[in-house]
Amino acid sequence: MYQALRGTYDLLPDEAERLRSFLNRAISILERAGFREIETPIIEEARLFDRSVGEGSDIVSKEMYTFPDRKNRLLALRPEGTAPIVRACIEHNIYYANPSVRLYYFGPMFRYNRPQKGRYRQFLQLGVEIFGSEAAYTDAECLYLLSEILKEAGTGSFCVELNSLGCRTCQDNYGKTLAEFLEKRKEELCEDCRNRLQKNPLRTLDCKTLICKEILQDSPAIKNSICIPCEEKFKEVLRYCDMLGVKYRINDKLVRGLDYYTQTVFEVIAEDGGNAIAAGGRYDKLVEDMGGRPTPAIGFAFGLERCLFNSVRAVEPKKKGIRLVYLDKPGETRALEKAFKLMVALRRQIETPVTLSSKEGKKIGNQLAMADKDNCRFALIFGPEEIEKGEVILRDLDSGTQESLKETDLTERVKKC
Ligand SMILES: [Zn+2]
Ligand SMILES: [Zn+2]
Repeated sequence: MYQALRGTYDLLPDEAERLRSFLNRAISILERAGFREIETPIIEEARLFDRSVGEGSDIVSKEMYTFPDRKNRLLALRPEGTAPIVRACIEHNIYYANPSVRLYYFGPMFRYNRPQKGRYRQFLQLGVEIFGSEAAYTDAECLYLLSEILKEAGTGSFCVELNSLGCRTCQDNYGKTLAEFLEKRKEELCEDCRNRLQKNPLRTLDCKTLICKEILQDSPAIKNSICIPCEEKFKEVLRYCDMLGVKYRINDKLVRGLDYYTQTVFEVIAEDGGNAIAAGGRYDKLVEDMGGRPTPAIGFAFGLERCLFNSVRAVEPKKKGIRLVYLDKPGETRALEKAFKLMVALRRQIETPVTLSSKEGKKIGNQLAMADKDNCRFALIFGPEEIEKGEVILRDLDSGTQESLKETDLTERVKKC
């Protein structure tokens, strides 16, 4: 027997249907806010992520799936969506053509980490990126959209945690303060963190080791290293959030494990605990760092598994569709032919699924039982007697009631099913 790889899963039809329905609603929210879709490849050059997400980050150093291709180029399965989108926008001159472009994407991402409930190695993300606006109200709008989409997902109650990482100058100052603090307890830190202390002290804040976490609890908060313009900006973001009724909680220990963030960062935490269900932030320097012209940007992404498949809105699949069931006299195929032709005719005229029984020659009762198992709501029965009379029986598989229809009235009646 074969099994799906650890940390991957099969999206079965009931779940796929919920996912599709959620996506339609989420995309409608986004399109009404001026977003357009973008799709980038699943594989990229590995160095794209070294430069943007950061070599010192856990995502790049520990979790990325990388492999040499047949020409020995080092490739990566994308661990996140932002860097590839920035790469694509620079490559296709999008920032010149549309300086304030708004994009959304949807697709699988890959990270080799320890699978947990709702966390997979191949996971689906829906994300958005807003380019070309530095304004504080854009941050608030972004958080508002995120909240609206999460409500559509039926995630249950959640809280947006917010922080400001300041500009690059603020971050450098904070890095020094943090390094000074950690230097005193250097011997107690894990090996990774001792390395991070040299290269990028901020990354120690992502460490999952218990001892490091404990030491860092007493670390100086980043807000004490924030410059006045960055502080003012953050206050403004909060003011606009209040205006739109976005509920948030300030968490001054929140840093995101990616190097490209500046100023506003956020995570959405479900009230019932667990990992973040969505996260994002501002990355005003990334486009420039990757070789594009200076373009401020903000974005977020969320993992659909956490949002959808553990959500409280788990619904029974609804019965729907019409099954065409037929029985011919021995040696004849008149009923089958009628049903077969009607199958395609109905599919052109109505939206509900229309399927033909696959139980050739089996008793009507047997075929109806199969239709019921397949979650069909109605059956249209073509028996030998009905064929003689030019009639069809419409049976409601839920209630068991049925009615005879003239073949000529059939389509009109079925439209109401
Ligand atoms: Zn600053
Ligand atoms: Zn550590």
